Amino acid sequence: MTHVFHRHLQHTPPVAVGGQGLFLRDAAGREYLDASGGAAVSSLGHGHPDVLTAMHAQIDRLAYAHTSFFTTEVAEQLAEQLVRTAPAGTSHAYFVSGGSEAVEAALKMARQYFVEIGQPERTHFIARRQSYHGNTLGALAVGGNAWRRAPFAPILVEATHVAPCYPYREQQAGETPEAYGLRLARELEEAIVALDPRTVLAFVAETIGGATAGVLTPVPGYFKAVREVCDRHGVLLILDEVMCGMGRTGTLHACEQEGVVPDLITVAKGLGGGYQPIGAVLAQRHIVDAMSQGSGFFQHGHTYLGHPVACAAALAVQQVIERDGLLAKVRTDGDFLGQALRDALGAHPHVGDIRGRGFFWGVELVADRASKAPFDPAQKVHARLKKKAMDLGLLCYPFGGTVDGNQGDHVLLAPPYIASREQLVSIAALLAQAVDAVTSTATLPRQP
Ligand code: PMP
Repeated sequence: MTHVFHRHLQHTPPVAVGGQGLFLRDAAGREYLDASGGAAVSSLGHGHPDVLTAMHAQIDRLAYAHTSFFTTEVAEQLAEQLVRTAPAGTSHAYFVSGGSEAVEAALKMARQYFVEIGQPERTHFIARRQSYHGNTLGALAVGGNAWRRAPFAPILVEATHVAPCYPYREQQAGETPEAYGLRLARELEEAIVALDPRTVLAFVAETIGGATAGVLTPVPGYFKAVREVCDRHGVLLILDEVMCGMGRTGTLHACEQEGVVPDLITVAKGLGGGYQPIGAVLAQRHIVDAMSQGSGFFQHGHTYLGHPVACAAALAVQQVIERDGLLAKVRTDGDFLGQALRDALGAHPHVGDIRGRGFFWGVELVADRASKAPFDPAQKVHARLKKKAMDLGLLCYPFGGTVDGNQGDHVLLAPPYIASREQLVSIAALLAQAVDAVTSTATLPRQP
């Protein structure tokens, strides 16, 4: 009998008791190879000695001080580290406790920015379908995952959703990737114009989509065109890098590879690598200036902002990534992982697409490769895959996406950056074994 309010109320998961490197151990003594870092969280794996030492030292010195009274050395150091390594123009880091809080703070910063500069009529967010920005109400409102939104839709702030960049399903025959990206940017501009540009606050997007339709890597030029559209209408660009940021794709921020600088970047998971709950909003100077020269404060805040132990953990994680050259490793070993996945799964009759960058890969499962028809959601392929993989000792992150109103099946892989090539090969082999076992019994959806 459990008294923990688990998400799945009819099923109590195994009890995790230990973790080292890429492995987690449960109370029954079973070991699991962590190929997804939880939900793309563990950037350095489990039990990293340098991070533990930094956390212990901070706890001994000072565990907590409220930010309405004090700042701390460690929060200042972490902000300095993040601003130094962020895109040009970034001047401040606002610390929160996770991804949803980072998105909420970014949405409110964007709103307050326009209030401060005398454009209070800007009230409307535009985001993308098949996106995920968190489960709190503001983040859920901009999120475009139809299933997650459905029960709460009547109580969400209004947001307009445009198409995601999803070439596998939505790039038209004969359309080049570049033309596809430009079409999407044109559609965004049409949505802004239809709403009246003077009322639009911000466009919110994951630089690389994560937890809704698998890993969605943008086509070349898409974000540059999006940035131009936003600039033309005075609309802010908020890039949500809670999942794809902090080195996950081989550069510290995924937007570096797109050649764009957003007004606000949200980060979380890889920031603290799971050692502590922490997220941040990285803000460009004009956003902060508008507030400091206007009302003088940001009308927002939480009790655990800039928690010293969380900041110490994140600082240590980021220092290890820099010291050990892990971004370069993620780039080269990421290509290796992509190839290992294509070798193990590329020809599988139920694998529709394998896509990704760095240590961030998605496998999209289909009932039929030729028509790209997804499995019948009643088959619960993703749930069975998760269970099968765990039985094989593999932690991957399968979930149902949203394909044509249907639930597609996706697997997300996000191993810790320290993974060896041998471990990457094992990940691909175990995943192939799990996919094989689960899809061999799944049947095509019934035809109407
Ligand atoms: N944004 C993105 C892109 C995410 O992937 C997530 C978490 N999956 C969130 C926001 C929400 O983060 P958290 O679960 O830490 O609140």
